[in-house]
Amino acid sequence: MKITEVIESSKETLVSFEILPPLKGGSMETIFKSMDPLMEFKPPFIDVTYHREEFIYNMRPSGYYEKIAIRKRPGTVGICASIMHRYGVEAVPHLICGGFSKTETENALIDLNFLGIKNVLALRGDARKFEGKFIPEPGGHNYAVDLVNQVQDMNNGKYLDPNIDNGFKTDFCIGVAGYPEKHFEAPNLELDMKYTKMKVDAGASYIVTQMFFDNDYYFKYVDLCRKNGITVPIIPGIKPLTRKSQITTIPRHFFINMPGDLINAVDATDDKQKVKEIGIEWCIAQSKELKAAGVPVLHYYTMSDSRTIKKILKEVI
Ligand code: FAD
Repeated sequence: MKITEVIESSKETLVSFEILPPLKGGSMETIFKSMDPLMEFKPPFIDVTYHREEFIYNMRPSGYYEKIAIRKRPGTVGICASIMHRYGVEAVPHLICGGFSKTETENALIDLNFLGIKNVLALRGDARKFEGKFIPEPGGHNYAVDLVNQVQDMNNGKYLDPNIDNGFKTDFCIGVAGYPEKHFEAPNLELDMKYTKMKVDAGASYIVTQMFFDNDYYFKYVDLCRKNGITVPIIPGIKPLTRKSQITTIPRHFFINMPGDLINAVDATDDKQKVKEIGIEWCIAQSKELKAAGVPVLHYYTMSDSRTIKKILKEVI
């Protein structure tokens, strides 16, 4: 089922999860262990992130550094297939521009289609650690909108090879990312909104937001989207704070603001358990308010911490 059909067919706010593939050397069991306890909340879909190759620098005995490419978390597509098989729910692989030529993207989409995967979240991906800005693969896409266009082309039976006449029309439902506090590279929210609208106009049927800790950002963002003619469902992405250090690491990595009340509450204690409780309480309050506002789905960034997510959902659902 497409995510849009899932949303249309439900009157209630649904719950979904985002998971990360395990670090290389890990097993599918770790995924099942973290997902099994959450299945009681009947998620109609589970997103699986994609992690591109990164470069690391190893010092040789000679003292020179050698550059090595490694993929720390491979397995997105396999995990999707496994999730669909075990739980009978939709799995949504994240598809990124970074590291992929258009041909490789086309081949990946063919695999997804043959596996019966109906939904993809189309993203650009971030710059590599040692690169100052995002550099597309030779023959790859610059922006998520270009990836949306390619998926949409395949939905219309158009493949890269112009000699393919009458190609099979895939039927992917395409989601894209949205940033209530603006994407960090965008000069302002209005311009970022213009590019988000381009993704929707190109064929994206829903938006999943970056995490936020103040619901006002989400509500204002939805208003702005609607004013700009974006009518697709906007799914809020939510993450509970679980460690004191996240007060600074989350804003640094995700370019979002932390509300003063949350900072003050966490700052007032050095008790790790207490910090976790504060984060859980905050997330429960956020989730309840979003649910009361009638959001289509509460989408949790689980970070493999099913215990925390379960505690939250017990209070929300
Ligand atoms: P885009 O929509 O392409 O936007 C990137 C920047 O370029 C923005 O500043 C935008 O304003 C600007 N822009 C867009 N189009 C144009 C244009 N035509 N001309 C000029 N400027 C333009 N990353 C991963 O590597 N793997 C994942 O699995 C993953 N999952 C994610 C899930 C969600 C819900 C979110 C919110 C993010 C995720 N990311 C993931 C991170 C994402 O890849 C980064 O935030 C990335 O920097 C931007 O991706 P995007 O798809 O929003 O890019």
